Amino acid sequence: MHQFLPYAWFHGECVRFEDATLSVATHALHYGTGAFGGMRALPNPSDPGEILLFRADRHARRLSQSARLLLTDLSEETIHHAIRAFLVANQPACPVYLRPFVYTSDLGIAPRLHNIETNFLIYGLELGDYLSPEGVSCRISSWTRQEDRSLPLRGKISGAYITSSLAKTEAVKSGFDEAILMNSRGKVSEASGMNLFIVRDGQLITPGVDQDILEGITRASVIELARAMGLEVIERAVDKSELFVADEVFLSGTAAKVTPVRRVETTDLPLERPVMESLRERLTLITEGRDPAYDHWVTRIRID
Ligand code: PMP
Repeated sequence: MHQFLPYAWFHGECVRFEDATLSVATHALHYGTGAFGGMRALPNPSDPGEILLFRADRHARRLSQSARLLLTDLSEETIHHAIRAFLVANQPACPVYLRPFVYTSDLGIAPRLHNIETNFLIYGLELGDYLSPEGVSCRISSWTRQEDRSLPLRGKISGAYITSSLAKTEAVKSGFDEAILMNSRGKVSEASGMNLFIVRDGQLITPGVDQDILEGITRASVIELARAMGLEVIERAVDKSELFVADEVFLSGTAAKVTPVRRVETTDLPLERPVMESLRERLTLITEGRDPAYDHWVTRIRID
């Protein structure tokens, strides 16, 4: 069981986590008509009265856009205000994961997004390594990543995670750690909750935004950092067979951070991962507020 933070932001105020409860008839529970975010926050190692949030502006913007895709309004200001109040109430003393959620809170049945009540909440939990930092084995999923023409992929829409869940469980039940999903055109898309990168001949390659990916904030950060570090970064369609011959394959995401892939299906990948290692090291430094060149990626919130 997770260690949840003691307070939740629930429909406009902070209440105790146990008191933030919903009706069994909640519309989003039945129809997947919610959208969520996921961000990491940690006390500044050199000033515990200050909480550091990685790219909070990007996370707020994506969540606000997700709300728009669900035909409701949730402003970035509302999200920032709620996060601040949430952190002040909880006084986190260790790294935590925040889960903001906008959803149809109506009690009526029938799938729809018009004439319906929506609401917003945040809860948090202590989250260590989501995937092993040593590396993961990946199965190529038998499930296909959805297409934007059937589901808005620019948002983190709850209903979309049925495919991620099926793919993850299929992978785990067959002895792997994670799943890599192909898109309907047979190109590599992403993992169950992470974007994917490969390294070939010194180039960093990742499926483009036209490959049915979620526009990951860690992905955008990795691309920007890699370019600043002098690497050539190419966003293009990636074929399945490239995963087997790559010098490095790694995953990126808020929960997973940067995680190496050590095996794809039955193919072991090289143990040397210089590109992944240098990007991971730099990202860790930035998220801990220890890299002045990227201080603009860190939001600092006082909780004392
Ligand atoms: N793809 C999916 C399907 C995800 O759920 C996530 C996690 N948010 C990502 C990619 C990575 O996105 P981010 O780096 O913004 O966490």
